[in-house]
Amino acid sequence: MALSRDEIIEQLQSLVGAEFVLTDLETMQLSSVDRFRRYEAYHDVFSMPLPAAVVKAQSTQQVADIIAFANRNKVNVVARTGGSATEGGLETAIENSIVLDGSAMNKIINIDVQNMQVTAQCGTSLQELDDKLRTMGYSTGHSPHSTPLAQMGGLVATRSIGQFSTLYGGIEDMVVGLEAVFPEGGITRIKNVPRRAAGPDIRHVVIGNEGALCFITEVTVKIFKYYPDNNRYLGYTLDSMKLGFEILREVMVEGYKPSVARLYDIEDGDYHFSHFAKGKCVLIFVSEGVKPIADATADAIEAIVAKHSECQQVDGSYIEKWFDHLNWDPANLAEEKREILEEKRICHTTEISGNWSVLNDLYETCMRKVRAATPNLTMLGAHSSHSYLNGTNLYFVYFYDVSNVAPADELEQCHLAIKKIIVEETIKVGGSMCHHHGVGKHRTQWIESEYGSSYYILNKLKQAYDPNGVMNMGTIIPLEK
Ligand SMILES: Cc1cc2nc3c(=O)[nH]c(=O)nc-3n(C[C@H](O)[C@H](O)[C@H](O)COP(=O)(O)OP(=O)(O)OC[C@H]3O[C@@H](n4cnc5c(N)ncnc54)[C@H](O)[C@@H]3O)c2cc1C
Repeated sequence: MALSRDEIIEQLQSLVGAEFVLTDLETMQLSSVDRFRRYEAYHDVFSMPLPAAVVKAQSTQQVADIIAFANRNKVNVVARTGGSATEGGLETAIENSIVLDGSAMNKIINIDVQNMQVTAQCGTSLQELDDKLRTMGYSTGHSPHSTPLAQMGGLVATRSIGQFSTLYGGIEDMVVGLEAVFPEGGITRIKNVPRRAAGPDIRHVVIGNEGALCFITEVTVKIFKYYPDNNRYLGYTLDSMKLGFEILREVMVEGYKPSVARLYDIEDGDYHFSHFAKGKCVLIFVSEGVKPIADATADAIEAIVAKHSECQQVDGSYIEKWFDHLNWDPANLAEEKREILEEKRICHTTEISGNWSVLNDLYETCMRKVRAATPNLTMLGAHSSHSYLNGTNLYFVYFYDVSNVAPADELEQCHLAIKKIIVEETIKVGGSMCHHHGVGKHRTQWIESEYGSSYYILNKLKQAYDPNGVMNMGTIIPLEK
């Protein structure tokens, strides 16, 4: 028989101590959702089932004890660190879940400059880690827009990616080893080695699992020498995304590795760069590293872009200044709430990826179809922010008017309706429905078409590592009806 809420709380208190088990209504409400439902939350509407408790774990052993208890008693566990998730990954899908919060496990365990790696607990803030490394002349190279909010466990669990990814890669290129807790396997460690060919790369069972297979307690990531004085910032205006994609492709195919390669369409460009590029698409590159490489990369990109007379170079200081203020500032939350409640408009995003051969057509199709289907749209734009040898991502940004939209209707009527168009068009042309925000709970409806015949592998992982289905129910794999 299922345990009652009181029985769950009592057991948790005996495992970790009552002071680390939170049960007050406000914490339960805020911990039942993430930024996906912020329109509801700003109206004090909490439509998800409330958790039984939030547990502030203090050690790996406590995490192991809680997950073993939950597994024995079939209680759902939602892992949480920075709380910056945008796709419903933190939603408590069923009543009386345990929210297992790793944010108090925030120690930097070892900065190893000889082997160029740092080991940190899951609750370590990326901002604090990188600030510390920079004072020593190093950096993780990881810089997502959510750096001030996100923590190492969540960053690994969501396969996050940062703004300098074209040089340093996504988190999957940075993780050397880690420690995690599985419901049946207990505490397990993957050792730190530069490479191995001893079977499949099991790090990838953990990276990107979104709390649906295991809880990540500790990670070791690479560090890089940090040379900010050598950075070269390049910016261009141009008329079409098509040409922008061609230039991005040429830079990647020729083998150059700028840390940043970004392309904004006119609408998204106007949102960010109207002071110097109104009504234009904008192409941005940053090259960095040791001086000969940073200079050679920037010079080569300048030569590639110079072949296209449509591109007009802008003063690099505009781009440098823009990067200084790029990251999300938690102080923006008050303004965001005001915008939603008083101006009655909200912003959401959907990010996908595709090969070069389909990208421009995919971009145009999504823009046309979303515009046609969304009468209350007030802004729709897109940018590419992470490029690869074979293709790039597209990050669609949209604002819509919520004057006549009830809190309970906003997601189905607006955000998910737009997401559906973008996701389905992307899957149709062989792209991925999800470039870096994770599947969460709201892209699960397309997970089988995203994976095709390889869904077998994904589904078996869930069955093998979480046979009782207690790890973040409804995340990545849909809830059974
Ligand atoms: C303003 C803003 C900007 C963003 N920019 C970017 C960006 O540039 N790049 C990018 O990739 N993402 C971005 N994101 C998305 C988000 O910040 C990332 O997904 C981030 O990695 C989440 O980390 P977190 O610590 O906040 O995790 P949380 O929000 O706490 O959790 C995210 C997911 O991971 C799971 N999880 C958390 N901790 C653990 C753990 N210890 N073990 C197992 N599972 C766990 C959760 O259950 C949830 O499913 C942005 C979000 C916001 C709000």
